[in-house]
Amino acid sequence: MKLNTDGLIIREQQTGDYDRLVTILTRDYGVIRAFANGAKRIKSRSQSATQLFAYGNFSIYRGRDAYSIDEAQPREIFFGLRSNIEYISLAQYICELAGETAPIEEAADDYLRLTLNALHMLAEQKRPPLQIKAIFELRVMCLSGYMPELTVCADCGREDSAEHYFSPVEGVTVCGDCMGDHTCIRLSDGELAAMRHICYSDERRLFSFRLSDDSLERLSDITEEYVVAQTGKKLRTLEFYKTMRG
Ligand SMILES: [Zn+2]
Repeated sequence: MKLNTDGLIIREQQTGDYDRLVTILTRDYGVIRAFANGAKRIKSRSQSATQLFAYGNFSIYRGRDAYSIDEAQPREIFFGLRSNIEYISLAQYICELAGETAPIEEAADDYLRLTLNALHMLAEQKRPPLQIKAIFELRVMCLSGYMPELTVCADCGREDSAEHYFSPVEGVTVCGDCMGDHTCIRLSDGELAAMRHICYSDERRLFSFRLSDDSLERLSDITEEYVVAQTGKKLRTLEFYKTMRG
């Protein structure tokens, strides 16, 4: 059986001298692991389409035990990422988180679009890396069914409190009067507005907000904590990205 779909290579591994195993985030079948058997099977013009961060159209053969890529037509390779180890390590983290959260063998169009947009913003340096990280982390949680409640205090229902606190474990905001009963982090108005924007905005406007560098640092810590609290996982690529940032 043969599948044809668009996808992004989110991981590559060498398995033996000639075999490469790649993980593809595909539009129609979610996360797929497939052999990309090197120059022998993939025409040379499409070789680059099976490298990490390559986006393209894939023709994938589904064998009895494994998938293998028959043909790959590259569309976008994200060369802009290769100039900078910090960008590469963040892109690897984004890809790993996408692979951990996107479905397997069912459509993942929204995950693919979000991941491509994040890599594009990073490669073209259109937003600070920490902003791209925070947006990706929080929005991918929303796609996975973990949208936090950010509109009212979870305890008393107030909308207009002067102080806002966020609980990464509970995924809710509480007001200053109720915060004593929760393990939570104080949010500035700007940080709360940014989190609401990331969760509720239209996908075309997702990356269009500005925050100070200090607030971006805090926002990125908060969204990261939220991912760890909700998924229960601390990804290896995240640790590596932090080392690269120094
Ligand atoms: Zn309250």
